[in-house]
Amino acid sequence: RTMTAEPGSGATVALRNVVKTYGSMQALSGIDLELAPGEFIALLGPSGCGKTTALRALSGLETIDSGSILIDGVDVAATPTNKRDIGMVFQSYSLFPHMTVLENVEFGLRMRKVAKADRRERATEALEMVGLGAHGERFAHQLSGGQQQRVALARALVTRPRVLLLDEPLSALDAKVRVQLREEIRRITRDLGITTVFVTHDQEEALAVADRVAVMRAGRIEQIGTPEELYATPANPFVADFVGLTSRVPGEVVDGAVVVHGVRLPLLGEHQENGPVLTYIRPEDVALAAKDDPGAIPVTVVSTSFLGSLRRTHFLLPDESLIAAQHAVDEHPVVGAPAFVRLKQSAVAASPRS
Ligand code: ATP
Repeated sequence: RTMTAEPGSGATVALRNVVKTYGSMQALSGIDLELAPGEFIALLGPSGCGKTTALRALSGLETIDSGSILIDGVDVAATPTNKRDIGMVFQSYSLFPHMTVLENVEFGLRMRKVAKADRRERATEALEMVGLGAHGERFAHQLSGGQQQRVALARALVTRPRVLLLDEPLSALDAKVRVQLREEIRRITRDLGITTVFVTHDQEEALAVADRVAVMRAGRIEQIGTPEELYATPANPFVADFVGLTSRVPGEVVDGAVVVHGVRLPLLGEHQENGPVLTYIRPEDVALAAKDDPGAIPVTVVSTSFLGSLRRTHFLLPDESLIAAQHAVDEHPVVGAPAFVRLKQSAVAASPRS
């Protein structure tokens, strides 16, 4: 008697060349996205890039100008939200205040005219799934924010939808609860095999939970890939920034490798033509060095911060670019002082310099 283990219960989802305009503002400029059954995709991007619009288009809360939206291969453009077989959770908890937790979760089943006993049983199961089996008789105001979002999740899942849409569901919660709940959302969606689209502007959150991340900017998807792919080969500086690769060091592609401050590094990603590029050096590939070390680059220490198990330091390179390094906490670069760094011989990604 569980809601889990219906293999293949997630639907395929496809957005094909979806365009949405508000007046003169193009919120979606031709979005293409394909989700396999059970896949968990995060839409990541800054405010106003079109994440919510994409999700609302998928849900049917918003119409689209052109393109198509397919759920299990069926075009749902003309299908109302309540017939699309989706569950939704929003940033605000949006529970009905005059109903108990159990009644809130039952709501969707009542709308579907499910008999009372059956309703109770299924709502109780859904509440147990989110760890709130003992809280059914409470009201929303008697729950913490994290608990309210769990109820919202139970309410979204109780009708056993095949697609789950989550719009910044964690952004109103404090950091610790946010991390706990995202892990739990991931576990539940995996157990149910439900196809999930998760909207967030928080890169750490997206990279931590998603099978694949679609990085959006100004109504377009800039790049889509696994977290590892985005981190290894960001397509451009915008994507690099969003996956936490903030160092952009000018280099020169020379015959399939990239030369950065005299150091030759293997080049990741698509073949690059010889010429000037921006390289995305990972903080873990920058080591503190001594003056006489081979390849030592003279730098100035800009800032250093203690991160618990490691330290993060920013250096200014001779070409005035900033580079972040990650190193042991007991190494203490002195802010403002000269120092030396060395680039580890690992592959880096690059994009053309304009
Ligand atoms: P946020 O994280 O701030 O919600 P977002 O990435 O979800 O941002 P959207 O809400 O999808 O972005 O908005 C995309 C663009 O469309 C924005 O420029 C926004 O101002 C505009 N927009 C969204 N909804 C409407 C609307 N109903 N009427 C007019 N413009 C809209």
